[in-house]
Amino acid sequence: MSLEPTKIPLTVKEFDSQKVGFCAGCGCACGYILYQKEGKIVDLYGHPADPRGMGSLCTKGIAYIQEATTNPMRLKGIFMRKGDEFISVDYAQALEILKGKLSKGKTAFLLGRQAGLEDYLLARSLSEDVFVDAPIVEFMPSSLKPTDWKRAKFILSVDAEPVFSEVMATRWVVDAIEAGAYLFCLSSRYETTCAKAKDRLLLKPDSIIEFLQAILKPEKGDSKVEFVKRSLFLMRGALVLVGAHLLNSPFREAILSILAGLRKKFGVNYSFVGDLMPFPAKPMEEFFERFEEFDNLVVVGNHFRYLREDHLKALKDKFVVSFQVFPNITAHYSDMLFALSMYQERDFINYRHGFGYLVYSPKTVDAQDVYSPADVLGKALGLRVSLKDFEYYEDLETKGEVELRMEDIGSKGFSGDYYTRKGELFLYTDSTLVEDLGHWNPWTHEMERFQRAYINTHTARRIGLKDSIQIGGISFDLITTENIAEGVIFIPSEYEEFQPFDPGHRVGAFLKNPYHRYEVFL
Ligand code: SF4
Repeated sequence: MSLEPTKIPLTVKEFDSQKVGFCAGCGCACGYILYQKEGKIVDLYGHPADPRGMGSLCTKGIAYIQEATTNPMRLKGIFMRKGDEFISVDYAQALEILKGKLSKGKTAFLLGRQAGLEDYLLARSLSEDVFVDAPIVEFMPSSLKPTDWKRAKFILSVDAEPVFSEVMATRWVVDAIEAGAYLFCLSSRYETTCAKAKDRLLLKPDSIIEFLQAILKPEKGDSKVEFVKRSLFLMRGALVLVGAHLLNSPFREAILSILAGLRKKFGVNYSFVGDLMPFPAKPMEEFFERFEEFDNLVVVGNHFRYLREDHLKALKDKFVVSFQVFPNITAHYSDMLFALSMYQERDFINYRHGFGYLVYSPKTVDAQDVYSPADVLGKALGLRVSLKDFEYYEDLETKGEVELRMEDIGSKGFSGDYYTRKGELFLYTDSTLVEDLGHWNPWTHEMERFQRAYINTHTARRIGLKDSIQIGGISFDLITTENIAEGVIFIPSEYEEFQPFDPGHRVGAFLKNPYHRYEVFL
């Protein structure tokens, strides 16, 4: 889909250029029009002709496109560590150093959401050791586009929070409800969509899995299980929304098996909500296990948030080159640091989400002193990766959007023979609306200033917790609430020690398995 600017400008401000792009802040890929004057952004609007965003942009999208571009804390340039300090280096010098370092030893690539597809393709052309901080899927992550969610008559939401991760997609859930759909929410914290639910159950994650398993069993379950079972049977084509974080948890196999079972037995549609990786890569868990093996790390994103203290210390024996938007913890522990060009500052294919399609967006912002990892590494190592060689490129160029060619989850052989982790008290860490980048901007940071632990009121009383809780040697202020399931402690995961306002703790500092979103606490 390609869009032109509107005939009548949406802004009343003066501008000399208007560009159309598609936000890559999440899988919704909302179309936008950016108005600029003398190279500076003067206004930003959602494109009214875009069927996904329908003229709207969320706070996160605006913060990424408009605010991060001009944020005074934004990194610009290239830096090299010298002792405890960083010094600026020029591009030619940096390429020479990179060539020398990366042509020796073993290199691991750590790619985050801001990494472009060309960065991924280049990394894969150099190494099998490409690690991502999103769950990896080998099946079609969505059987239905979000714009078609509105046709569902019954929606079962399993720990899914589109309001935080895939913001504008929430409108299609609301449209379905307004057309009479029944929304049943099953989650371990009160998700924003729960407010629209006709029924909801707050359960700890092992109980969520048991509830879902009971739906698939022929034996009679309790009244809620029987209600959902009947609804899925009678309202064929019901929709199951699943929080992508469940695939980065001890419940991965269970949830895959259950979803495949629901698809086969009731013909449900499904969508994963959240950050997913639909191309071959390795999980961060494997990176932790093989940490010692690597001499060089190429990092695009804030992956050192996941590192334990001993791993952070051991980085001094490795060469780390990283590409960052802000001077975060990963930047701090890098030997060479490049300011990263954000998705609006280069041609970008949005691929890291659970909706099963790729969206191409042309560059809309000219930024100085920021770098694309594929350009830098390609030049340093004498390689050239072109998006034109990418199997979907032709379709993307002509249509702007293309569906992934992957097998349906129902045709995958998930055995159902899985291990379900049981626990009395689970620690749940996940992002909230203020993601990693949001904490670098005062007005998005204000939405959630402090990293606190949230616990169910009865659970706190039962185990004798009042004002604070010690987790991994760190003390968190405790908030008791009915909005968390019994047996669950929730801590927002996007904080770290180097954030400029009210810094918190990186997940690597207090979780046993920082990459997992759930872990057994008691
Ligand atoms: S919903 Fe997603 S794609 Fe749309 S503006 Fe927000 S972050 Fe960007």
